[in-house]
Amino acid sequence: LSPVQAYLQQHEVTATGGNVPAPFMTFEDTGFPPEILRDIYSAGFASPTPIQAQTWPIALQSRDIVAIAKTGSGKTLGYLMPAFILLRQCRNNSQNGPTVLVLAPTRELATQIQEEVLKFGRASRVSCTCLYGGAPKGPQLKELDRGADIVVATPGRLNDILEMKKINFGQVSLLILDEADRMLDMGFEPQIRKIVNEIPPRRQTLMYTATWPKEVKKIASDLLVNPVQVNIGNVDE
Ligand code: ADP
Ligand code: MG
Repeated sequence: LSPVQAYLQQHEVTATGGNVPAPFMTFEDTGFPPEILRDIYSAGFASPTPIQAQTWPIALQSRDIVAIAKTGSGKTLGYLMPAFILLRQCRNNSQNGPTVLVLAPTRELATQIQEEVLKFGRASRVSCTCLYGGAPKGPQLKELDRGADIVVATPGRLNDILEMKKINFGQVSLLILDEADRMLDMGFEPQIRKIVNEIPPRRQTLMYTATWPKEVKKIASDLLVNPVQVNIGNVDE
């Protein structure tokens, strides 16, 4: 076995979709800018988790990904790092709307994602706004007005704000669906579809899910273009 094959076997990584690049087995392999790596090392991380190792090089090729991995596998940084790299390469005017949109099922999760953005996106000077239900819209809209490179949102609240025409998706070039299976379980599919309809089709889409039932397969096939599928461990249908 080559070192790459041994790594994939040991960590139960499978990736299908053609011309899959080798995983970044170490942080040095990533070629991420040193100031980003400094923050990662300060967090005490020794090496990329398997989902990060395999999805980073694919995401950096601007390809769509559907990643199936259970909770605790490091998915958040898995999609945030490519988002930071994209933002360093193409900095839009954040006042005209976000470049990166992350959809997540709950307020708690959205807040956690924003915290991770603030922690690891600092070196890239990334701005982030969080939009979720169960809280007044006013302050969220005010923050949105100040501009954000990354918007992290629950589908219900984001769709409300979209219907109020208070957000512009014209600049979104990276769409991330986190915990897609849970969002569907919670009945967010109509809102997700309305939101995605407003995003320019020339975008990159990354979808993360813990399970892989037929509803998730269906929405993946509707929203992603030629995705690479990355699994860690056994897949729960
Ligand atoms: P998931 O979304 O897959 O459930 P998270 O992104 O929430 O997982 O990450 C789980 C925990 O692992 C978090 O505390 C996160 O900071 C930590 N983590 C992320 N990447 C690494 C890494 N490369 N090495 C060690 N810990 C990491
Ligand atoms: Mg997560």
